[in-house]
Amino acid sequence: MASERKALPVIDKTRCTGCGWCVAACPPHVLSLEVEKWKKFSHLHDEAGCTGCARCAVKCPFEAITMARATLQV
Ligand code: SF4
Ligand code: SF4
Repeated sequence: MASERKALPVIDKTRCTGCGWCVAACPPHVLSLEVEKWKKFSHLHDEAGCTGCARCAVKCPFEAITMARATLQV
């Protein structure tokens, strides 16, 4: 199995307001809003589909997204 290293968004749930700006900004549409305990949070539902472009992190008005290096099994 091959592995791929790239940067993936890490969402800080204590800062995320569920506004959805990152979801709208993501070119391959791999972010979605999920409901957890009556609150909405951004969630990366397709790690392999994420290009690591960081547009979501730049767009977030609440600085809830940081990019972190991750190793994926592909
Ligand atoms: S833009 Fe930021 S605050 Fe808004 S849903 Fe995305 S991570 Fe949460
Ligand atoms: S880094 Fe780019 S591709 Fe990945 S979730 Fe954020 S906007 Fe989408």
